[in-house]
Amino acid sequence: MEVKDEKELIYDVCVVGSGPAGMITALEYAGSSPESSVVIIEYGLPGKQPGTNALDETIRNSNPLNHHDPYDCTNKGLGGTSATWGGRCVMYDEVDFIDRPILEGGCTWDTGLLTEIKNYLPSAAQYFECGDPIFHVNDLPDLQKQPIAENFKSSIVTDTILERYSMPTRFGTRYMDELERLNNVTLLAGYEAREFGSPDDNGTVSILTVRNVQSATILAIRSKTYILAAGTQETTRILLRNKELFRLLDKEPESLGRYYQSHLSGKIASVKFSGDPKRTDYGFISDRDGTYVRRRFQFSTEFLVKQNLLNTAIWLDNPLYYNANHKSGAMSFMYLMMLVPFVGKRLAPPAIAQSITKGKVNDIRKHLWNIIKDLPGSLLTPGLIFYKRYLLKRKLPGVFLYSPQNRYALHFHSEQIPVKENCMVLGRDGETLEIHYKLTEPDIESIIKLHEMLDQELRASDSGKLEYWFEKEHLNQAIREMSRDGIHQSGTTRISGSPDKGVVDKNLKVWGTKNLYVCSSSVFPTSGQANPTFFLGAFAVRLANHINNETSRVN
Ligand SMILES: Cc1cc2nc3c(=O)[nH]c(=O)nc-3n(C[C@H](O)[C@H](O)[C@H](O)COP(=O)(O)OP(=O)(O)OC[C@H]3O[C@@H](n4cnc5c(N)ncnc54)[C@H](O)[C@@H]3O)c2cc1C
Repeated sequence: MEVKDEKELIYDVCVVGSGPAGMITALEYAGSSPESSVVIIEYGLPGKQPGTNALDETIRNSNPLNHHDPYDCTNKGLGGTSATWGGRCVMYDEVDFIDRPILEGGCTWDTGLLTEIKNYLPSAAQYFECGDPIFHVNDLPDLQKQPIAENFKSSIVTDTILERYSMPTRFGTRYMDELERLNNVTLLAGYEAREFGSPDDNGTVSILTVRNVQSATILAIRSKTYILAAGTQETTRILLRNKELFRLLDKEPESLGRYYQSHLSGKIASVKFSGDPKRTDYGFISDRDGTYVRRRFQFSTEFLVKQNLLNTAIWLDNPLYYNANHKSGAMSFMYLMMLVPFVGKRLAPPAIAQSITKGKVNDIRKHLWNIIKDLPGSLLTPGLIFYKRYLLKRKLPGVFLYSPQNRYALHFHSEQIPVKENCMVLGRDGETLEIHYKLTEPDIESIIKLHEMLDQELRASDSGKLEYWFEKEHLNQAIREMSRDGIHQSGTTRISGSPDKGVVDKNLKVWGTKNLYVCSSSVFPTSGQANPTFFLGAFAVRLANHINNETSRVN
């Protein structure tokens, strides 16, 4: 790999951004096409710690209650936001590709595309180091196929879908050596992609200017193909700023920057299982290669379609850390550690730390009492977790503690309706990115109904019941106040069959251009229940293959 300062600025492929999407596309393409040259433009400077930066400072978040601040949602630097991501690898579901009335026409992709993308899951899984891409407990030969809790049985609520965990792979450090080895890859670190030249009459874009983040020097990058993989916020901002790109269309795609989605996320109930607590699958299971996997509750496609509800995952979780009534010395110890300045920051990225402490300093005396009463376990358990979570190569992805009462908090992670008003737009200065983000009534009502269904199914199989944390009439408000996301961003450059419905075609090519692509979860029209990065990785592998095929066809 060449590192900056080269004079030749003509490439076959130019990739903007080196997060999981850009890194996978660049590695896959450069590896399979050694005669071609690839340049990666990365805003972040080498060796700089994640933190705030000039790009994030020019983003305005209109809803800090439900949306994390921009710099908690992304990182700049080699490897992008994989510097702090949690590594949870989840598959999109069939229902996410089915148009349902609740989506208000927002499902602009189809199940054919899902089938095609599945071909790229094995390669994606290798980049993410998350084992074989098996997401169903019954397909794992070595694991027991018992229900998630004793007696649980349901056809509507499923307990067999798995989430898998990456190392978690930090793409910058993990793939640096591989980039070094590829002598057809050039990395321009500390450069911001700025302006594209107008496409010619065939739609070919031939120039991109990039600005040195420190010296403001401008360079012109000429390339046969451009790929925007700058994360949802910045990919959207670049396209919004470069409207000339759409000059061959009747008008700029109306959906650009619109239909922004994240997830609704939070807890409104616990589950009390009635069977043997030792037979509850509450934590991580180790797949045969050591990859961690975990079960969750989901809902069948038929049920969601019939009831017109949003795709939602619900997983077993710990009680709220800050509330000392959980009486667990280990949880109290970990909560107090998260509150200690400097220590807390090193234990988890801000968005995750906030989800644990909820920003509250609560019941300190009661927490101390929990710790004393549970000694030595209150220190030994966190010590063991610390070792597994921070000192091993394959890290324990999270902390889920056994409940002798067979009672677990339930964490929901839910699809959001793609509404036009949720959007990213440019401010009057033509630079500032304004994020407008709200939860809608149907978003919230769907979560409440799905909890009711889970409760019904648990009771019907005599395996347990839900215990709500709020009065029924207060559930809606509680969700409205607790749900905070923005770390899984999608929708703003969505895939569609035509430019009047979306921004890119199914091959991720920007409508109106011949050689400009977007590789970001911003192309996903629906958000489903899934954390988006693994699925995005499969799109990245496919895109690299697509470009390879296109270029060999032309040559
Ligand atoms: C705390 C946290 C936990 C998360 N956990 C999970 C999880 O468990 N599972 C999951 O699926 N997802 C998770 N995510 C989301 C995940 O990190 C993102 O989906 C993923 O990183 C997106 O990859 P990307 O390559 O599209 O963008 P990014 O990783 O954001 O990378 C984009 C890159 O582009 C660069 N860039 C931006 N603008 C420019 C420009 N103008 N010029 C040049 N370079 C530019 C940036 O510096 C950055 O390096 C988490 C996110 C956060 C914040």
